[in-house]
Amino acid sequence: MQVTRELFNEVMVPNYNPADIIPVRGLGARVWDQEGNEYIDFAGGIAVNVLGHCHPELVNVLKEQGEKLWHLSNVLTNEPVLRLAKKLTDATFAEKVYFANSGAEANEAALKLARRFALDNYGPEKDQIISFKQGFHGRTFFTVTVGGQAAYSDGFGPKPGAIDHVDYNDLSALEAIMSERTCAVMMEPLQGEGGIISPTQSFVEGVRDLCDKHNALLIFDEVQSGVGRTGELYAYMGLGVTPDILTSAKALGGGFPIGAMLTTTAIAAHLKVGTHGSTYGGNPLACAVAEKVLDIVNTPEVLNGVKQKEQQFREGLKAINDKYHVFDEVRGKGLLLGCALNEKYQGRARDFLVASAKEKLMCLVAGANVVRFAPSLILTDADIQEGLARFERAVAAVVNA
Ligand SMILES: *Cc1c(COP(=O)(O)O)cnc(C)c1O
Repeated sequence: MQVTRELFNEVMVPNYNPADIIPVRGLGARVWDQEGNEYIDFAGGIAVNVLGHCHPELVNVLKEQGEKLWHLSNVLTNEPVLRLAKKLTDATFAEKVYFANSGAEANEAALKLARRFALDNYGPEKDQIISFKQGFHGRTFFTVTVGGQAAYSDGFGPKPGAIDHVDYNDLSALEAIMSERTCAVMMEPLQGEGGIISPTQSFVEGVRDLCDKHNALLIFDEVQSGVGRTGELYAYMGLGVTPDILTSAKALGGGFPIGAMLTTTAIAAHLKVGTHGSTYGGNPLACAVAEKVLDIVNTPEVLNGVKQKEQQFREGLKAINDKYHVFDEVRGKGLLLGCALNEKYQGRARDFLVASAKEKLMCLVAGANVVRFAPSLILTDADIQEGLARFERAVAAVVNA
């Protein structure tokens, strides 16, 4: 069978519009397409391929587990899921873990748990969920409604209720809307899809205080910011603010689908037998891979490496900007960086992405005004230098077009 990009339009639901090339192989931070062209990957499968493509230790564990046991359902437990849960609870504030298959599913579980917790402890009036404009929490109907872009949740009929949105980094707006009715506040401790926006220290501390004051749970969506991305295992560790519930996915599986919701024993107790579940959540194959990802990422070597590589990126991007004057700032933390375009290039992030692809560099956008990088956490100096050289040529092409 001849597999071409045209086939996509023929047989796929048109909710995506992928690039013209079809990648067939990857290794580290490099990817090759059907024609054998080599790309440098600064996108990391949207902050997923945290150890690059086909990391030998991940390939090994996948093969080994693949010959042992793939799936049982949650009628039975298994060794990889218990080992992974133990390691996640040892490494974080959490005492209990629920496994799912994606970020949206982990968030769905977090939101349902928060509602149960409030119902059991305070009654049905305590149902308000507050989240932030431009926030992103996934595409199930509950999570997309909690997300801060109505355009993503409109047009599907009646939405789940009791959900309010306020501006990120606006503590007084949050304070004004919170009350004893507030069940939970859900936030990304570094907004990803919304444009790579860091919380101010006073904001994130203030959110924690307001949640405590109103007996509301604080949910950190670390689907994009977690598992080493910011140079800490989870971003909350760098902020010094601990949530009640934390969700993780994307990088957790290094490219294999998995999601997790982490919380305390007291809160977890409200998801009693039969209240929630997933056929595939916690399957041995995904958990074996994620365990290996965690073993490798949660080391000083990799986490400190992220901080060093962030500096290399920032220096390289500054040099490019000194020459071409296209960004207002480079924001974000660790290897989740966003170049915010200046006045002159507003709305043109996609042009930079297309120009980069022509130079054989994969990058991302975060909205119309931010070019985003979320590469492998262990990409080499040579990958960074060559990738930035390609990005410079792409910037020059846009500027001189
Ligand atoms: C990607 C993302 C999600 C959704 O994850 P899926 O695996 O696509 O369901 C949720 N929250 C954040 C912060 C994300 O970046």
